[in-house]
Amino acid sequence: PIQPKEQLDAVDTVCPYCGVGCALTYYVDRERGGISYAEGRDQPGNQGRLCVKGRYGWDYAASPQRLTTPLIRVDSAYPKGPLSADVKADSGEDGDGKRGRKPGGLVPYEEVMPHFREATWDEALDLVARRLGEIYAESGSDGIAGFGSAKCSNEEGYLFQKLIRTAFRSNNVDHCTRLCHASSVAALFEGVGSGSVSTTYGDIANADVAIITGSNATANHPVASSFFKQARRDGTTIIYIDPRAGTVADHADIFCQLKPGTDVALYNGIMHEIIRLDLVDHDFVADRTANYEQLAKTVEAYPPELAAQITGVDAETIRRIARIWGEAGAGVIYWGMGISQHTTGTDNARCLIAMCSITGNVGKPGTGLHPLRGQNNVQGASDAGLIPMFYPNYQSASDSASRQRFEQAWGVQLNPNNGLTVTEVMASVLDGGVRGMYMLGENPFLSDPNINKVRKALAKLDFLVVQDIFLTETAEFADVVLPASSYLEKDGTYTNTDRRVQRGRTVFDPPGQARVDWQIVQDIAQRLGLGWDYRSPREVFEEMVELMPDYANLTYDNLGSTGKLYPNPDPEHEDGTVVLFDDRFNTSDGLAHLVPAEWLPGKELPDEEYPYVLNTGRLLEHWHTGSMTRRSYALDSISPRAEAYVHPGDAAELGLTDGGLARVISRRGEIELHVKVSHREARGNVFIPFHFREAAANLLTIDEIDPTGKIPEFKFCAVRIVPVADR
Ligand code: SF4
Repeated sequence: PIQPKEQLDAVDTVCPYCGVGCALTYYVDRERGGISYAEGRDQPGNQGRLCVKGRYGWDYAASPQRLTTPLIRVDSAYPKGPLSADVKADSGEDGDGKRGRKPGGLVPYEEVMPHFREATWDEALDLVARRLGEIYAESGSDGIAGFGSAKCSNEEGYLFQKLIRTAFRSNNVDHCTRLCHASSVAALFEGVGSGSVSTTYGDIANADVAIITGSNATANHPVASSFFKQARRDGTTIIYIDPRAGTVADHADIFCQLKPGTDVALYNGIMHEIIRLDLVDHDFVADRTANYEQLAKTVEAYPPELAAQITGVDAETIRRIARIWGEAGAGVIYWGMGISQHTTGTDNARCLIAMCSITGNVGKPGTGLHPLRGQNNVQGASDAGLIPMFYPNYQSASDSASRQRFEQAWGVQLNPNNGLTVTEVMASVLDGGVRGMYMLGENPFLSDPNINKVRKALAKLDFLVVQDIFLTETAEFADVVLPASSYLEKDGTYTNTDRRVQRGRTVFDPPGQARVDWQIVQDIAQRLGLGWDYRSPREVFEEMVELMPDYANLTYDNLGSTGKLYPNPDPEHEDGTVVLFDDRFNTSDGLAHLVPAEWLPGKELPDEEYPYVLNTGRLLEHWHTGSMTRRSYALDSISPRAEAYVHPGDAAELGLTDGGLARVISRRGEIELHVKVSHREARGNVFIPFHFREAAANLLTIDEIDPTGKIPEFKFCAVRIVPVADR
């Protein structure tokens, strides 16, 4: 029975899942040793609300599968990683089934563990420092890379990039932003001089019109989507643009179901019409932007009729959107990975920046640009410098003035060359460049595109250390596994999609010998001769604030229980700054730089052999590679298996039945999974979530990348679908 609230220990912290960063309180039964329940708190960004993940998804931390001792690989002749030849066969039912999951189940540790032995912390850490040090001595900075995690705190992200940059003089340090909004950040930096959002999702309440595009917000940012729906009820016009009819479409004034990968053509068509109708804010364009003439010339070639042909959206709808957007007093755009995860992701975001800028929709309440960030701390991890081309606070690694600043602060000489991104690191491993890797909380074996290629890269590494809370699919390739702390077991700060910096607080101690992540990173740094002596995350945060102008005036004490938005004008300011760019942009000349884009099709178009377009993404109940949510009883019970979502017409044509089995095949691999017949898909498209190892969607995806943001094209590749007789 659940104890009355007064008898439980209340710990104020933040939800560990999505970038909305809902403030919550865990009510802890200390006698029983567990959380009894979670309750949302009244922070401006969630106002007491929680979604199913925040409310019920915390029990993963108490899973019996938690790593509790350091592990060292014992059988060097034994093949690294999942044993079967193909992940699709790694279900325990076919293939050799030696190390896979049962369908819907978890890794059978008893089969994996014999290939590792338990070790002491000293032994494991000594080995990590020795092997990474040897590889650095032999191959130099290019031989080492580190992937940090957007699930870790700001302080952990900061220390991790500092370790890679100072111990190995390498800028090969990146994290999963490369897989979600790297293209948005690239476009925003180029356009407005800042990679963060220009306003909050709650600011939709002040908008006359909001465009929500490439975002299944009800699944991916559930509490933010409740603000969107509330705004619609209060009079904001909602235009929802997406190839899938996500549930936001049910609440929209206009739902625009464009063909996948045609965003640039659509937005160019809308801007063409805005200019034709003379709905441009000429004063704003003259005073606050650069390169308008070039943009106007480019979109001149995209009349609504042509845009309609490319996008499949009728010309009248394009004209209607242009008129509504152009006439609005305040318009705001929220976007998700449907915009960013394309080889044209940067161009897609450039168009959204231009849409806002030519109509003066930036810098005042109810206007602006908001890429909805995915992970709870992807904004903070990027701010903290887990990016190969930037030190903390986006100070360029290749700029000598920034470099000197950090060399002085950190007391070492730094590498003047930009490092490799996540996707480039894997290619470098295959080419014999990167030989040693430190993986902190990332699971590229399931999250990266074309994972048969990732498998080869991970298996080829001379040395891999994985620091995580579970023996993830990637950890199965490791030489050393370090048992880390879950979100519930440490203090630290996290920065949400709104730029809200909040404190996470310790609920429990880590289990067994597992340790807090920042301490593990420090132990390795000390063994590599760096002489660090941080005593707490608070002390790390203070160092960060010294080096990060955006975090000025933030302290552990003034963050209180609901955090503050950065920039924070003074230490006593109530809540930090909601709307940026009210009088100038962050670019060197203070202007918004309009960058025109021509529409380009996806890299792998459907053809006779592979006639369907695959779109990958997330479900409401699960998180990324499932290592947390698939170990949460409630969440996995609601959504226990992988499904391919297909349109009823396509299902009928292909002979697929709802709940039946299908095989989905691309040029890179194939998976078998259940079918979900869904009227939310368009004809010719199939959607598959990437959470499930036993039907790993990224076996199918293509590893082509956006040339600027280097983000993979997770939202577009060609597949075929065949029914499979039920077994
Ligand atoms: Fe957690 Fe995001 Fe759900 Fe809020 S909306 S409870 S942050 S998963």
